[in-house]
Amino acid sequence: MKIAIMGAGLSGLACALTLEQKGITPVIFEKRREFGDRFVNCEILLSALSKPINDAIKYFSEKHKIYLNPASNIKELIIHSPHQTAVIKGNLGYTNLRGRIDNSFEKQLGQQVKSKVRFKSSKSYEKLLHEYSHVILATGDAAYAQKISSYDTAFTVKLKGANIKGDFAISSVHAWLNNDFAPQGYCYLIPISHDRANIVIAYPEYPRNKKIDSNLLWEKFKKGVANTLNQSLEIYEQFEITEYMVGICQYPRIGNTFLVGNNFGSIMPFLGFGQVAAILTGIYAALDISGQGDYQDLTKRLRKSFNNSLTLRKTMEKMSNDNFDTLVKSLKGRIGQGIFTGKLNYLKVVSKLLKPFV
Ligand SMILES: Cc1cc2nc3c(=O)[nH]c(=O)nc-3n(C[C@H](O)[C@H](O)[C@H](O)COP(=O)(O)OP(=O)(O)OC[C@H]3O[C@@H](n4cnc5c(N)ncnc54)[C@H](O)[C@@H]3O)c2cc1C
Repeated sequence: MKIAIMGAGLSGLACALTLEQKGITPVIFEKRREFGDRFVNCEILLSALSKPINDAIKYFSEKHKIYLNPASNIKELIIHSPHQTAVIKGNLGYTNLRGRIDNSFEKQLGQQVKSKVRFKSSKSYEKLLHEYSHVILATGDAAYAQKISSYDTAFTVKLKGANIKGDFAISSVHAWLNNDFAPQGYCYLIPISHDRANIVIAYPEYPRNKKIDSNLLWEKFKKGVANTLNQSLEIYEQFEITEYMVGICQYPRIGNTFLVGNNFGSIMPFLGFGQVAAILTGIYAALDISGQGDYQDLTKRLRKSFNNSLTLRKTMEKMSNDNFDTLVKSLKGRIGQGIFTGKLNYLKVVSKLLKPFV
């Protein structure tokens, strides 16, 4: 068996690490110069959105010997709508770094991998398929998935973000549900450290949203953040992503090609979470290759989660700012606390109830 992994991101490196554990050595092909060679941002792992896995860091280390250090734990999630604020407290999950910064998830995984990595690779999938018996497509976008498989695009997303300097509570994450900042989308602030944070607006690129000037939304959001935090924002880095694909492939394995990470459809449409599913797909592909499972079967639960998450998104897209106020008001107190800290997969239950209506 000769195995090529195309892409040294979360799913590709998780696949390589699992294969190595099974005594199989792949070759990794990465188009960039080093692990995590891209813009810096901070992401989160929210326990409420990765059920039945409660603590993803613990799960990957204990169950799969993949070791990841978060930037911080999340002790407080502050959700803002135009006129309401809900503060949820508890062990809610973790923040983690990505990209060109020490301790980013890609760099941490890269340090654990022993397989050969060919950086600055320009090898196409077709060429790899010719030279290797198995190819893992882990390129972080769905371009190849669209080309070689049936890939259902649910929607594409525009993301506009920046890293800012200021004074931040390291364990407090802010989220905004406000159509004036991100129509049918969401915005957030995740602390990178006590004096740096990542702010982002993300919204679906439906034709009506494409007509809106994203710079205007961005200016409104920045003002909103400054008002909420009661401090001025000093931006030191910015990034913008357009046409970020959210969708799912119909066939995760085609011959000896495995679609993992975003090529599989790891981004959950509701709030764009994809890290846990990306790592899982990498692990599952490796389990299949080493004869310990069937990739199609192993990914069935993720496919269900994707569909549930899409139902929640469709519901959210219909909501006005008044609806967001009502929702956020209802998240204050025991309901919000139960959803974000309870053992039950509330979001799965809610999406099941909503399915007939969307
Ligand atoms: C701004 C932003 C914020 C996000 N926030 C969150 C969050 O808070 N929580 C969460 O769970 N998820 C979040 N996500 C989603 C999450 O980051 C992704 O789902 C996850 O990284 C996907 O992993 P992957 O392995 O598919 O791709 P990646 O980790 O992106 O890795 C892809 C790798 O493939 C390489 N590559 C690309 N093309 C080629 C090629 N032709 N040849 C060789 N190599 C190639 C890339 O350089 C990269 O190294 C966010 C995404 C974005 C964009």
